[in-house]
Amino acid sequence: MSRVYNFSAGPAVLPEEVLKEAAAEMLDYRGCGMSVMEMSHRSKMFETIIQEAEADLRELMNIPANYKVLFLQGGASQQFAMIPMNLMKNGVADYIITGQWAKKAWQEACLYGDAKAVASSADKTFSYIPDCSDLPIDENADYVYICENNTIYGTKYKTLPNTKGKTLVSDVSSCFLSEPVDVTKYGLIYGGVQKNIGPAGVVIVIIREDLITEDVLPGTPTMLRYKTHADAGSLYNTPPAYGIYICGKVFKWLKARGGLAVMKEYNEKKAKILYDFLDGSRLFKGTVRKEDRSLMNVPFVTGDAELDAGFVKEAKAAGFENLKGHRTVGGMRASIYNAMPIEGVEALAAFMRDFEAKHI
Ligand SMILES: *Cc1c(COP(=O)(O)O)cnc(C)c1O
Repeated sequence: MSRVYNFSAGPAVLPEEVLKEAAAEMLDYRGCGMSVMEMSHRSKMFETIIQEAEADLRELMNIPANYKVLFLQGGASQQFAMIPMNLMKNGVADYIITGQWAKKAWQEACLYGDAKAVASSADKTFSYIPDCSDLPIDENADYVYICENNTIYGTKYKTLPNTKGKTLVSDVSSCFLSEPVDVTKYGLIYGGVQKNIGPAGVVIVIIREDLITEDVLPGTPTMLRYKTHADAGSLYNTPPAYGIYICGKVFKWLKARGGLAVMKEYNEKKAKILYDFLDGSRLFKGTVRKEDRSLMNVPFVTGDAELDAGFVKEAKAAGFENLKGHRTVGGMRASIYNAMPIEGVEALAAFMRDFEAKHI
C-alpha cells in the first residue's frame, strides 16, 4: 500500500488514523457483528454515534446552547435554496460575491426573493476580499450572506463584514474546523464536510434557535425546513449515517490533537511554507492579495499555461496528486486541509524548488 500526498480541493484528504480505525471497525463495529453502514439509524448504537458526534463538535467549536447542530444531506449547494426558503421573512437578503460559490448562492436566492449583491470582487477575478466595513445593507435584509473561505480562488475573510445588526450567514465548507470561530457572531454557519471533515454526503448546519420557525416561504418542502430536522435531532428520515460516523471520528481526532487553536497554529505553519516559497520564487507566484490569503487553498501560477500543465504532470508522477487549478481559473491549487501533514507541504515546496531550478 502506498498513499499519495493528495492536494484535492474536495473530496479531500482525511486523517490516516481515522481511515485505519474505520477499516478496523468495518466488519464488526464494537462487537455488534455488523458495519455502521448496515445498522438501523434508530438503533442505540447509532444514537450514541450521532450524539457523540454532536457533543464533540459542540466542544470543538464552543457552540452555545441556543444553537442547533443539524446533520443534513444535499451538499452545500442545497443550502443555497434552504437558506432563503427558511430565512427570507421580509423577502430581502444581501450577498457578498467573492467567488463562484457565493455567486451560485446569490443566484439561487434570486429565485425566492430580492437578493442583492452588495459587494463583489469579480473585477479582479475574485483575488481579494472586498472592504465590508460599510456596505449598503438593506434595512429590511433578513440576513447578510458570505462565503468565508473561497475554495476556488484561495481567499478568506480575516474580519467578518459589518452587517449593521443583520444576521450573518456563512458558508464555511472549505475552512470548517481549521481555526477557532466565535459562533455567536453568526446566525447560521454551514458547510459540506467533504472539504475538511469527512466523506461527501453530509452537510452540517449550525443555526441559532430563533431562526428556526414555521414561518417559511410558501411551498417549502418538509425536507427543506430546518424545523423538520431540528425537531427530530437530524433523524427525521434516514440520515447519511456512515458519513456522520466518520465525521465523529474526525472530531475525536481533532480533540486529541488539541482542538482548533492548535489546528490553526499548525495550518498557519503549513501555509507559510508555501506562501514564503511563492513570495521568493522567480517562477511561481501566488494569485491572491496577501492579506486575504486562505490557509486552506493556495492557488499559484507560472504565467505560462503549458508550463503549468507540465508541472502538474511531473508533480503527479512524483506522488503529488490533484494540483491542477479549478477549470475556471487554470494554473495550480494546493489544498492543504487539516489532514494534510506538514511533511506533505514541505515535500511539495521542495519539489517546486527543484522544478524552478530546471526551468528558470
Ligand atoms: C465545494 C463547495 C461548495 C459546494 O459543495 P457541494 O457539497 O458540492 O454542494 C459550496 N461552497 C463552498 C465554499 C465549497 O467549497
